[in-house]
Amino acid sequence: MSQVRVRFAPSPTGFFHIGSARTALFNWLYARHTGGQFILRIEDTDKERNSDAFLNVIYDSLKWLGLNWDEGPQVGGDFGPYRQSERGEIYKIYVQKLLDAGRAYEKDGAIWFKLLGERSEVFDDRREKTVTKVKTEPTVIEDRIRGHVERIEDEDFVIVRSDGNPVFHLVNVVDDIAMGITHVIRGEDHLSNTSKHVELFKAFGASVPEFAHIPLILKQNGPGKMSKRDQGALVEEYQRRGFLPDALVNFLSLLGWNPGDDREKMPIEEIVRLFDLPGVNQSNARFDDKKLAHMNMVYLLELPADEFVTKVRTYLTAQSAGPALAADEGYFREVMLLSQPKIKGFEELPSYTVYFFTENYPIDDKVKTKVMGKGEPKVRLAELIAAMPAMDFTTDESIENGIKAVAEANTQGFGAYQSIARLALTGTNVGPSITGIMRVLGRDKVSARLVGFAAAN
Ligand code: GLU
Repeated sequence: MSQVRVRFAPSPTGFFHIGSARTALFNWLYARHTGGQFILRIEDTDKERNSDAFLNVIYDSLKWLGLNWDEGPQVGGDFGPYRQSERGEIYKIYVQKLLDAGRAYEKDGAIWFKLLGERSEVFDDRREKTVTKVKTEPTVIEDRIRGHVERIEDEDFVIVRSDGNPVFHLVNVVDDIAMGITHVIRGEDHLSNTSKHVELFKAFGASVPEFAHIPLILKQNGPGKMSKRDQGALVEEYQRRGFLPDALVNFLSLLGWNPGDDREKMPIEEIVRLFDLPGVNQSNARFDDKKLAHMNMVYLLELPADEFVTKVRTYLTAQSAGPALAADEGYFREVMLLSQPKIKGFEELPSYTVYFFTENYPIDDKVKTKVMGKGEPKVRLAELIAAMPAMDFTTDESIENGIKAVAEANTQGFGAYQSIARLALTGTNVGPSITGIMRVLGRDKVSARLVGFAAAN
């Protein structure tokens, strides 16, 4: 059996979209699953709309996601160059082949692809002009995902514009031939182009690759395809927000594919092992940011402590999160490990941990009004302050026992102490366990904050 060769062929005309990432991922998965080659080809023939900035975003995003390419820009390969803007000579040779074979002709300065079949002139009402119709057999596409598709191509089409620029259909097919592509896996929006492409493959006497058109990604709310303008549509946004690429890859793999059971979190090796084209759904997939956030949380939770802390530091460094980064390393680690099971993403960390790194932490007024308005918080606070010097701060448990002892001595519940302590120590009513907060802050800071709060309120 010949080796699978698939390609991801983005046009660098905009930021790198979730849908593009998913197309790249499905190609990469198929290559890795079959032991084939994954090729990156840049479709940058539209000089006016391309930019190097967008090109770099494509490279960066693919690398960040871990979708390494076997051939393409930056890594080379036997079938280069891999940027269409550098392949002009190759297109000329292929166009000449069609001209020589009588399958292309010049008209009005452009070069047209010639369909085979009986020709007749008809007046097209919609376009209000006479056009040449060609009577052809339907083009058959046995799509690996869509199944049997038939389309009729009945008009010649331009393959080289009058300005000399080759058209997408031509360069796309020529490169798939010249690069030995065996499977074309791409978005369903290209299905309408495929009959033209099949006719071109045949005219070149090339074998037609397998096609697999993957379903669209629908926007989260409302009808229609997710577009670059939709919130959460750009890969770099997730990179900036500190999402774990493994979590995003896992999430993307499930946008239109399932492993045959209801598993969701799977290591990439497992996804590679199970991924195959018959498992790709025909129906469209709907984007769901909650599911993505949840996936990220599950991945964060399972990160080994050292890795988690290292990644947090990298993220906070990119955010220039001064006070946290200036803190003692051991203290920083304790704070972050306390937060690890509580956060959905790194982006929550700066505000979630603010009170660990400054004495100027914000006090939530609503929370304050609520806590101060219930029971006798000032009395509880005084009792807690009195217990501080003798309390054992060694572990969460010893602290918990200490608070319980105070509560029992005063015939109160644990909760009455925890709510006022949390308010005084953190300014809020959310966060890690109060005992964890107290242990990490340490007796001195805890005492000072409790005393300070009591004096001010
Ligand atoms: N450049 C095309 C696109 O970005 C690629 C189409 C294909 O994969 O064949 O949509």
